[in-house]
Amino acid sequence: MTTEDIQPIIQSRTQAPAIYRVRIGSFEITVLSDGYLDADPNLFSAGGDVLAQLTDEAFLSRTPFRLGTVAYVVNTGRRLILIDAGCGPLFGPTSGFLLANMRTAGIAPEQISSVLITHMHADHVGGLLTEGQATFPNAEIVIHSAELDYYMSDLALSRATERTRPWILRARRVPEHYPGIRFFDRDGEVSPGISACVLAGHTPGHTGYIIDSDNNQLFVSGDIVYSPVYSFKYLDYDFPFSVDHVAAEQSRRRALDMIAAERWLMTGSHLPFPALGHVRKMGSAYEYVPDEWRFEV
Ligand SMILES: [Zn+2]
Repeated sequence: MTTEDIQPIIQSRTQAPAIYRVRIGSFEITVLSDGYLDADPNLFSAGGDVLAQLTDEAFLSRTPFRLGTVAYVVNTGRRLILIDAGCGPLFGPTSGFLLANMRTAGIAPEQISSVLITHMHADHVGGLLTEGQATFPNAEIVIHSAELDYYMSDLALSRATERTRPWILRARRVPEHYPGIRFFDRDGEVSPGISACVLAGHTPGHTGYIIDSDNNQLFVSGDIVYSPVYSFKYLDYDFPFSVDHVAAEQSRRRALDMIAAERWLMTGSHLPFPALGHVRKMGSAYEYVPDEWRFEV
């Protein structure tokens, strides 16, 4: 046999579908990847050089700084509840994969009865609308009243950049397409087994959700943390996406303290897929301990 006789073997250039299931008591949670976003390292609050050092230590590429994005479907056995809706079409070809991954998981958009919102940043609500229509036509929206109030305010628009302004204007159209909006304004149960935990700062109505079934818990933390590279160890480091940095840091500390003390499983929207782990207290800071692959659901 000569080398000319050897047929090339096709290499796959795509990853397996990024869906992952975990059981919390009698609830089945499906973590669904929406793809990824790249952040400009120069926007990092401690400086691009510090971020380069942190990524070197973590054996990650220096630039761009890549953040995955996930959303979740909670199957309670009676209802399918979506938490956040991903980017939709707003961030280009590397994101907006929520619907495709839902299909792979055997979930149709029409089956979603509620969408719980952590906050209204474009990478969390961009997927609520598809070509000007509700992506989840049978769903109610559940959201902190301060969050929608802020997005409807002149203040939000006055703080917008050229890039974020169209996203805010688009988010304002969500209520037209989802007539059933249910508001809350404090901690408490929003659906049987799911409680809101208000963690304001990143945005005025930023909210985590505690899923609790048969004494098992999952803390859905939204954007309290971005990355295991720095968010847990250096609580004051951030990208400039928070509306109130001081309040965001306070909420970060409060949430991580609670998760560590309770030994809850936690998840964050931008943690590495499947974005599940625990939090260990380390002096005055914390450490992220990724969960192991679970063979059984
Ligand atoms: Zn986000």
